[in-house]
Amino acid sequence: MCGIVGYIGNKNAYPILIKGLQRLEYRGYDSAGVALLNGQVNVYKKKGKVSDLEDYITGQDIRGTIGIGHTRWATHGEPSDVNAHPHTSQNGTFTIIHNGIIENYSNLKNSLTEQGYSFVSETDTEVLANLIEYIYRTQETNAEIAVRIALSKVVGAYGLVIICNEEKDKIIAARKSSPLVIGLGDDEYFLASDATPIVEYTDRVIYLNNDDVAIIKKDELILKTIKNDILEPNVQKLDLGLSEIEKNGFDHFMLKEIFEQPRSIRDTFRGRLNAEKNEIRLGGLYHVYDQLVNAKRIIILACGTSWHAGLVGEYLFEDLARIQVEVDYASEFRYRNPVISEEDIVIAISQSGETADTLAAIQLAKEAGATVLGICNVVGSSISRETHAGVYTHAGPEIGVASTKAFTAQVTVLTMMAMMIAREKQLISVEKFTGLIKELEDIPEKIGKILENNDQFSDIAKIYKDATNALYLGRGVSYPVALEGALKLKEISYIHAEGYPAAEMKHGPIALIDENMPVVVIAIKDSSYDKIVSNIQEVKARNGIVIAIVTEGDDTIEKMVDHVIAIPETDPSLVSLLSTIPLQLIAYYIAVMRGCNVDQPRNLAKSVTVE
Ligand code: GLU
Repeated sequence: MCGIVGYIGNKNAYPILIKGLQRLEYRGYDSAGVALLNGQVNVYKKKGKVSDLEDYITGQDIRGTIGIGHTRWATHGEPSDVNAHPHTSQNGTFTIIHNGIIENYSNLKNSLTEQGYSFVSETDTEVLANLIEYIYRTQETNAEIAVRIALSKVVGAYGLVIICNEEKDKIIAARKSSPLVIGLGDDEYFLASDATPIVEYTDRVIYLNNDDVAIIKKDELILKTIKNDILEPNVQKLDLGLSEIEKNGFDHFMLKEIFEQPRSIRDTFRGRLNAEKNEIRLGGLYHVYDQLVNAKRIIILACGTSWHAGLVGEYLFEDLARIQVEVDYASEFRYRNPVISEEDIVIAISQSGETADTLAAIQLAKEAGATVLGICNVVGSSISRETHAGVYTHAGPEIGVASTKAFTAQVTVLTMMAMMIAREKQLISVEKFTGLIKELEDIPEKIGKILENNDQFSDIAKIYKDATNALYLGRGVSYPVALEGALKLKEISYIHAEGYPAAEMKHGPIALIDENMPVVVIAIKDSSYDKIVSNIQEVKARNGIVIAIVTEGDDTIEKMVDHVIAIPETDPSLVSLLSTIPLQLIAYYIAVMRGCNVDQPRNLAKSVTVE
């Protein structure tokens, strides 16, 4: 949450900052601002989107070869001009942008108030700006030392970029729990929350670690710890293309990402499946392979859509690999005094690899001695670095706030893991294993077929766009798909929707069913098919509207329901990869028809780096 950019070099920073903020807008979009150092520091900030900031700035002569920019997702203080970042300290010495939360800001604010400081905003960030200035003044030290001392007094999370009015040749950056990347150019440096604002200028990057502080001049970078130990920067090559972060003719990133799924799933399994050799090779898991195969219990930790992928994983690990699985919200797990043993395998799932609660839960599991694996999309992200081993999903950058291709990529990784263990333990025959590999290899083509029926989804959306409630039902592995379908609808179209295990309907939600509420039922041909057909009849008996996702060739359900969406047949273990696609598209079209901002839904932001 919150997007941060910075530039120091010989060029005018403003265009670089604005373009960077547009790329990072998926991380937060309630207000935006920039500060440029041009003899003095000039701050421009505005409530609203980056485009509102641009409109506000248009016509002003805005220059400076050092600058910082921020797009905000408010945690402390409502979105407003004054709460927008950058924040400047009382005497104007420090101007800072911040991603994260200063948890002890209230105590710090009280102490600073006693020292004569007053505050113009309600943010925790302004407190930090003033704390740095207070230390700088009272301890008569330089900017870097003041920053490091201030950070030693801070409890919380931060990605920070700071400029000092009295040391006009540098930018200071620091991170703890919130991501920060530095791009290395020729006599110039770029800073950002992720690499997307940097990719067109350089492919050499340094990912800051927790407690790192960087002191950056246009021709020099010094990296040290908050305790002043000098560090050797680890310069990495960026593996990201410009076309991956553009819309490529689609109206929205979300639609582009839905349509990318044949490609993204193929990229997830590319080089990892080998039907001829009866092999699944997940290189990132080699050194934990024996522990994984012999695990008695797997704990899957995640948040949001990744948690739904984890629930699919539960079915797969239990069904194919016969390992007991618990799936928990990372935010609950971390505060629950959970029972974890050294034999446990913990799998943390996160698209961004920066999810604050998941990171904290990983820490807890590591302290308890568990082996912790990560499933992340963003290469080099915190979770991929904090875990003992892991698998990248390789879905490519996901920019739409509502996750789509990351979900199917996560499910693909979990499927491969479960299959690999099942084969190693000889729980499935070679024939079944080879058959599953072939089925998995066919999934992209089958998704392609579903996408060809795109009009069907917009037609259904047209009918139900004004619904106020919706229910999603599924059994077995289709239950998490129902949860995911409901989440997609509510997060982008603001229609209240609930996902339920179909049999649980009778324990409450059935009371909601009337002739106005659409009920989406995932009714594919699997072992619980007859049961779900009965559930459909129960809904119809109460005049409910049913939209059923069925297996191609099913002519039984067609006669009972209002709409059928047929998906190609596949193995029941893989069907969630197909059944989720229509639900993504229905949610997308409903949101578009309701005039919602699909890529930037209200109140949400991607990459939840605050708890
Ligand atoms: N806590 C800061 C604010 O409310 C930064 C928020 C964030 O990183 O999302 O302005």
